[in-house]
Amino acid sequence: MTDQSVTPETRCSFVAVIGAPNAGKSTLMNTLVGSKVSIVSPKVQTTRTMVRGIAIQDQTQIIFIDTPGIFAPKERLEKAMVAAAWQGRDEADIVMLIVDASRKKIDADTRAIVERLAQVKGDMPCILVLNKFDEAKKDVLVKMAAELNEKIDFDATFMISALHADGTQDVMNWLVKHSPVGVWHYPEDQINDMPERLLAAEITREKLFRALYQELPYALTVETEKWEDFDNGDIMISQIIYVARETHKAIVLGKGGAQIKKIGEEARRELCELMECTVHLKLFVKVDEKWLEDKERYEVWGLDFNAK
Ligand code: GDP
Ligand code: MG
Repeated sequence: MTDQSVTPETRCSFVAVIGAPNAGKSTLMNTLVGSKVSIVSPKVQTTRTMVRGIAIQDQTQIIFIDTPGIFAPKERLEKAMVAAAWQGRDEADIVMLIVDASRKKIDADTRAIVERLAQVKGDMPCILVLNKFDEAKKDVLVKMAAELNEKIDFDATFMISALHADGTQDVMNWLVKHSPVGVWHYPEDQINDMPERLLAAEITREKLFRALYQELPYALTVETEKWEDFDNGDIMISQIIYVARETHKAIVLGKGGAQIKKIGEEARRELCELMECTVHLKLFVKVDEKWLEDKERYEVWGLDFNAK
């Protein structure tokens, strides 16, 4: 006889998503969560801080820690980003290494990550996800999988396309199956724990990255300065785009302000979709030569200003 009143046990796990810049970490996380919580761009180093996406399947809650790409840090901001990435691993129950398999061979960043991971992993479950299957050569895939598994005895290896959501459900099923029994960490309706203001700023920053492309890689930052909720449900958001030079300001504004207008419109549209209401977005551009050395900014992003 089965007791109908007994609810099946819940499971919960933190999954650290690590990998070289541009491997597709944010894309995969967004696909798995089914909602856009971490910004994606073709440019490296888009993910500046840890973003959590939360996916629920049956009785299991999985919290993804989408870490900044791990690379050899030189500047202060880079160091803080790398420190945050490894901190993500420390908090996790499962580590998921994402590798861009569309390359001819394993890239140097991935090699460095694997070396470090091999040292620190202990008995933590680790899975290997070879991404960009859609653009990869089959023989390269097989070789990469074998070579990486020689360095670390991965608990599972997947070949997927995060972009086309191909094979991603298998990854999810594995994670669910291997999540420890435990209570859920977040309420059911929550998909990320990023403050709204920060998320809104990240969306604008993503549009800037996409529009400006090679011109000002990460010499700019966006901050939400004001957020007003109106009685009719509309939201008014004011943001400041900080750049380091007057010349950068001119690039961001574009001819007759055309560039910033286009960026603002794209960001506004996405915010409307996300918030499910009418959003009014005001963007201002300010020159501040020192923004990269401002300690408070690092705290807002959850980064360590003094990271080595
Ligand atoms: P991250 O730096 O690891 O977070 O990488 P992103 O998720 O930002 O993705 C970097 C780039 O790779 C973006 O242009 C994505 O659209 C692209 N990308 C991600 N997954 C796939 C995939 O499965 N196939 C292909 N062809 N491109 C992908
Ligand atoms: Mg990313």
